[in-house]
Order: sequence, then structure tokens, then C-alpha cells
Amino acid sequence: MIASTRDKKRSEPIINYGSYKVSDAGVRLVLERIAVETGRAVKVTSGDRDWVPSGGARNSLHLNKRAVDFHVEGWPDAQVFDLLLAKRATIFGESKGKAFRYQIIQHGPDTITGGAHIHMGIVPEPGEAYGRGFLVEGMTAATRGRYKVVDPP
Ligand SMILES: [Zn+2]
Repeated sequence: MIASTRDKKRSEPIINYGSYKVSDAGVRLVLERIAVETGRAVKVTSGDRDWVPSGGARNSLHLNKRAVDFHVEGWPDAQVFDLLLAKRATIFGESKGKAFRYQIIQHGPDTITGGAHIHMGIVPEPGEAYGRGFLVEGMTAATRGRYKVVDPP
């Protein structure tokens, strides 16, 4: 069967995991959707962790093997975050309220963590004590270490 021009142009989503392990299949699926929506490769900068890095949250979803840190190659993090918000239904599904179990954080230039990045995790059960929805931290020096919800679940 001859592939159409469209099919030839479309490429498989590229996720560059490097040396990082991301155990959660739901987290990996979201990364693939992000690669598709942006048309760019996703570069993972952290995944499963069994330690709390400097500035990291003690109840981090990385410790549950349910989170990833990443950039989209060639895109500023703010542009990625805006796309995740705009394509929320496509990338995360239609769920609202307690059913929306995703935690998306833009750690900005003044982040308390190791460096600016996008963080995405999946809260194990609805109603558990993790921030859900879209949050920002460290966008300015005044908000270093302070998490603000910009779009609730
Ligand atoms: Zn993270």
C-alpha cells in the first residue's frame, strides 16, 4: 500500500528519555501526545526518583514513579505550558474536577528546583493530597518556592 504524502510527513513521536526511567505508562502516553501536538521531540530531564533533590517536594510524585520533568526541543517552556492548557482536552482527556488527576507545573526561571522545566505527574487517587491542575512556581524571584494554581482541575 502506498502511503499518502500526509502519512510520509507524519513522523512517530520522539521522546528522548536519555538515562531516565519513566515507569508510568500514563505519563509516557501524555509525553507522546505532547510530541504529536508540538511536532517536536520531547527531552526528558528527570523521571522516577528515590531521593528528594535540593528544592524538590517531599511528597513529589517522582517518588511514586508517576512524574516526569521535560522540555520540548526548540520551544520555550512557557509556550509548552500554554499549549498544554489550550489542548487540555486532547492531551489529558475531558475529565474535570476530582477525575482530573494530572499535575502540571511550570517551574520558571527563578525556580527553587534545580532549573526551569515543565513537570507533569499523575496523582494516584482522586482527592489525595497532591496539587492537581496547572500550577506555576518561580516565575519571578518573589514567587520562588511558591506554587500558584493557574487553572484548577
Ligand atoms: Zn518534576
